[in-house]
Amino acid sequence: MAPKEWEALCDGCGKCCLNKLEDPDTQEVAFTRIACRLLDDETCRCAQYDIRKQIVPECVVLTPKNLAEIAYWMPETCAYRLLYEGKALYDWHPLISGDPESVHRAGVSVQGRTVPEWEVPEEEWEDYVIEGDL
Ligand code: SF4
Ligand code: SF4
Repeated sequence: MAPKEWEALCDGCGKCCLNKLEDPDTQEVAFTRIACRLLDDETCRCAQYDIRKQIVPECVVLTPKNLAEIAYWMPETCAYRLLYEGKALYDWHPLISGDPESVHRAGVSVQGRTVPEWEVPEEEWEDYVIEGDL
């Protein structure tokens, strides 16, 4: 897959830019509403995508090579996880709908639902865990 095609797979939901809490024993992952400092809550996009690693070194860059290691903690609706699991894209995916806004209209993105990480101390993130499906 060409790099541009790989990038286009992202549906723009912004979910992977939410901070997560992981149980070290079970590897169970819980997403919180606390967003990475670079996430734009309105567009659900990274505000500095091209230089994000310089600002947020811990940002994980997803590639075809590391997908197998990472897919388990990606949101269930994530196009890369769906690809890894051999599942079809949802009809709200921009590549299917032809409209980048369809992910927001479908209520699948994090638009308007996040809290910037600088507003909440890390020890309180547990209070912001998202219950149920993300
Ligand atoms: S969860 Fe997947 S589809 Fe959604 S923004 Fe992240 S990489 Fe893109
Ligand atoms: S640096 Fe950008 S792409 Fe990485 S987690 Fe933060 S908002 Fe998302």
